[in-house]
Amino acid sequence: MARTIEIEENISVGTLAEKLSIPVTRLIGQLMKNGIIATFNERVDFDTATIMVEDMGLEDVTLVKALEKNSIEESITKKKVANLTGPNRPPVVAVMGHVDHGKTSLLDAIRKSSVAKSEAGGITQHISAYQVEHNKRLITFLDTPGHEAFAAIRAHGAELTDLVIIVVAADDGVKPQTIEAIRFANQAGSKMIIAINKIDKEDADVNKVKQQLAEKNILVEGWGGDITVAEVSAKSGKGIDNLLDIVLLTADLEELKAPIDIPAEGLIIESHLERGRGPVAHALVTEGVLNSNNVVVAGSTYAKIRSLTSPSGTPIKTAGPSTPVVITGFKELPQFGDSFKVVKDEKTARIIAHDAVLENKSGFAQNNLNSSELISIINRSNSLQELPILIKADVQGSLASVIDSLRTLETDEVAFKIISTGIGSINGSDVHIAHTANGIIYGFNVELPSEIRRLASRDKVPIKIYKIIYELIDDAKIMLSELLIPEIVEKEVGLLEVKGVFISGKSEIIAGGEVLKGKLTVPSLARIIRGKDVISEATITNLKRGPQDTKEVFEGEMCGLNIETKNKIQIEIGDKISFLTRETIQRKL
Ligand code: GDP
Repeated sequence: MARTIEIEENISVGTLAEKLSIPVTRLIGQLMKNGIIATFNERVDFDTATIMVEDMGLEDVTLVKALEKNSIEESITKKKVANLTGPNRPPVVAVMGHVDHGKTSLLDAIRKSSVAKSEAGGITQHISAYQVEHNKRLITFLDTPGHEAFAAIRAHGAELTDLVIIVVAADDGVKPQTIEAIRFANQAGSKMIIAINKIDKEDADVNKVKQQLAEKNILVEGWGGDITVAEVSAKSGKGIDNLLDIVLLTADLEELKAPIDIPAEGLIIESHLERGRGPVAHALVTEGVLNSNNVVVAGSTYAKIRSLTSPSGTPIKTAGPSTPVVITGFKELPQFGDSFKVVKDEKTARIIAHDAVLENKSGFAQNNLNSSELISIINRSNSLQELPILIKADVQGSLASVIDSLRTLETDEVAFKIISTGIGSINGSDVHIAHTANGIIYGFNVELPSEIRRLASRDKVPIKIYKIIYELIDDAKIMLSELLIPEIVEKEVGLLEVKGVFISGKSEIIAGGEVLKGKLTVPSLARIIRGKDVISEATITNLKRGPQDTKEVFEGEMCGLNIETKNKIQIEIGDKISFLTRETIQRKL
């Protein structure tokens, strides 16, 4: 029976074989016959694929190019349309700003519970979301992390949001992270409200903050612009109601809508494994209504939903647009940032998820490297020193942040070789992988069972566990620095002019001269200089003042010296000998 198979412009060998229903070895063999050495994951283009099909005599198969997947522009348009049709939906709000300016306290004040105290290092480490009710209307808050190492999560966070509250402490003013947060908000096309916090403090200076913003061309109301400012104190609660009023008002101007009569879609904003519950995914519904008996696909995994709850654990039957939910029932952990959608049944879900797995297996699809990036990787690999590491984290979001932060430490000379990553406690197989690769295991907010600790210590595999990301990053930075080739620093400590040559044999030269500057000591490294040229490196093995051996001679003194040179040279009167120290200095990143 004739078959028409749609493929993309590029397709991995594995996927092509699967689509053609032939063993992958047969396809690899055929490629080889044509002089193409390709592995399972490598990609071939449409024309090559067509030739292979012909060469293999698969006459029943016709390959056709699949239409390009939705371009980014299309999907943006789609989102905009989605925003304009359907009933109103609650605004999705993120709180961002410089560390310690009071993001957590503000979110806390808003939901009137206390998260800040339980946080390691005072940093919100996970992104999650919750809803509050104000004036009988709902507002969805994303609990975005604060420290700059979580820039990756924040970037994703901002893309989800309709509105970003930028927190600036009235006593500390605008900081680099304030500007960074504003940039994220702008890039994501989110509306912005500036919350000037800590107005209860004595040294609070609201006008100074507005002026600093103006200096950065961020013009608030009253300063020639239209960005709304709310003055608040997370501590006393002053101004919070007003802030929430402004949030709703701004949302009204945006006319936020989403359709509800379509299969639900959304985004995974957090995922982790829980004992007894398996993969647990926090997600935000962006359109449609999610039902507790739906089947959803997220990236390369899927779930027949086992439980659907609010972030605080209350079971829910349905969740409409802008609703944060917690879903269990996934076969594997979905990835942070994956979009999810409801599909007809488990069979459909399996097929879509399986396709995504195949896509992911291809290095190209996963890394999205373009050819110039590839070339730069190949070029730098010649001199690149790599530190093999294995990373485990408690949740996907942290893992992504750890990896992103580590990547920023890399240079042309040194880089991490991430041999494996994963979610959950460190286990025996991690130790085994790290042992084989001579690597280090970094754990972030994960457990290290005592039997695994024993195993690692037996196999001499270093395991480093951290609760605070920047401590992990600092440590990794030190480890990476050690791979830098040390710098050799030479210093001239003394200079002598040769006044006489007594013996100039094969292996040893004995000469005499005057110390022009500095101090000569033995043994010492030296260079023999004639005119402007260095004619040889040498070692000075002995010094004599008169007939006596001595260890040191000073400026203005005459001395005899024994010289061993690397090259066979004749020393001449008038040559200069520069005495050197050579230090190796460990460089830092
Ligand atoms: P984050 O790093 O931005 O999440 O900041 P936090 O919410 O952890 O706050 C940092 C510090 O500022 C904590 O010691 C808070 O108690 C304090 N803080 C936060 N908001 C206020 C406020 O409105 N007034 C005063 N006086 N202190 C505040």
